[in-house]
Amino acid sequence: MHFDHSYAQKLSNMVSQVRISPLLEPELALYNYQLAEDIELKNEFSQAETLFRELFEPQGQLNQHAIAQKYGGHQFGGWNPELGDGRGLLLAEVITEKQTSWDLHLKGAGKTPYSRFGDGRAVLRSTIREYLASEALHSLGIPTSRALCLISSQEIVYREQPETGAMLIRACQSHIRFGHFEYFYQTKQLDKLDNLFKYTLQKHYPELLNHDNPHYSLLEQIVLATADLIAKWQAYGFCHGVMNTDNMSIHGITFDFGPYAFLDTYAPDYICNHSDHNGRYAFDQQPSVALWNLNALAHAFTPYLSIEQIKQALTQYETRLQTQYAELMGLKFGFKKNSSNHMTLVNDWLALLAQDKRDYTQSFRLLCDDNLNIQKVADHFIDRAKAESWYTSYIAKLAEESIPKNERLVTMKEANPKFILRNYLAQNAINEAEKGSFDECKRLLKVLSNPFDEQPEFDRYAQTPPDWGQSMEISCSS
Ligand code: AMP
Ligand code: MG
Repeated sequence: MHFDHSYAQKLSNMVSQVRISPLLEPELALYNYQLAEDIELKNEFSQAETLFRELFEPQGQLNQHAIAQKYGGHQFGGWNPELGDGRGLLLAEVITEKQTSWDLHLKGAGKTPYSRFGDGRAVLRSTIREYLASEALHSLGIPTSRALCLISSQEIVYREQPETGAMLIRACQSHIRFGHFEYFYQTKQLDKLDNLFKYTLQKHYPELLNHDNPHYSLLEQIVLATADLIAKWQAYGFCHGVMNTDNMSIHGITFDFGPYAFLDTYAPDYICNHSDHNGRYAFDQQPSVALWNLNALAHAFTPYLSIEQIKQALTQYETRLQTQYAELMGLKFGFKKNSSNHMTLVNDWLALLAQDKRDYTQSFRLLCDDNLNIQKVADHFIDRAKAESWYTSYIAKLAEESIPKNERLVTMKEANPKFILRNYLAQNAINEAEKGSFDECKRLLKVLSNPFDEQPEFDRYAQTPPDWGQSMEISCSS
């Protein structure tokens, strides 16, 4: 295990070296010991405090090698070449014994050449939201960047109002975004684009170098990974909120958390980002927006691929997404993995949830009730007749599949979480943290690390939002 700085070294003319600007009275508030162990960080930093000290050590290895990456992106459909790490720094790449590479990236590290009008900082509220969401998604089996630690401080950072400044270290395969490739293509810096492709293939997809056309295979891989990710978001009711191409990872992981939300009440057109006036990133738009983003990325492949090849890669998106989504939804209802013809039942169920404004997660969990019957299903809805008719068809389909009930319920409980990160739960944890206690954050992280288990002692965390938490306006500023 050792630290690498390959992005900084191999693409040195595409980054800026920047020192970390320390925060006033920093404190290590949350540390993900399990993740540290998983990425073998323990060997390098035997204790969390060592990492913490190293961060603020001007001559330390992390500080000396920290860089801001340059990228651009399509924001709400419009091209913006002015983006880059405006407040985040890539500290190092951790290479594990199995040669897996993990970027360590510090968010809220201060100004960089790409900060534009920003202060380079992050606030406690948004770093907690990112920490909670990435760990919650991970436990649900949804690919995501991870949270390694959160540093709170006494620094005042100004947003709509004065807030507490904080930093977060996240970890993931790489921080290469669609917007990296777009930037060097759109600004006609084709040599740099070529270096970025070479670096990406060599470092992250070496197996593709043996393919007839590595560029084609890379695009295909990104298309498929993105489709798989979106299928999961849709199945678990996750709304990202800011699917700009600079927030899209080439690894198909959930990336850059802003005003995201897990659905409470099922509303397919739900918009979690209050600045998104046209609903571009509404829940039910995510599948088509991801394809739009892949199209934007594909332009950067045009120096290497014909239009026919690009079309061939992109057309795989829809089929893959539909297949994956159908399989995931099938599992939620207890159908066989290779079950077919179940999407009418799925869609009728979703229509019923939407019509009667039922809670997405609780409704699916109801289907895993050991003693489910027609009465219970009818009681859950307002439109009893429709619910009963749906249940009758559902039972008929289950009978057709003939999976033993016990076996089926086990699989269903592994596909239908009892606990999700509802916005009001995150807000409760933030309120406590702003008063100085991270106990609620830790408790919530514990509950969400086993989202499929009953954990009866934590029943209150499975509840639908109280009145104040139902129409929360999550600030876009972070
Ligand atoms: P985001 O909305 O977080 O995806 O950020 C979009 C762009 O704005 C990226 O280039 C960020 O680095 C930059 N940015 C966001 N917040 C700040 C900030 N407080 N200071 C400097 N740059 C920022
Ligand atoms: Mg971003």
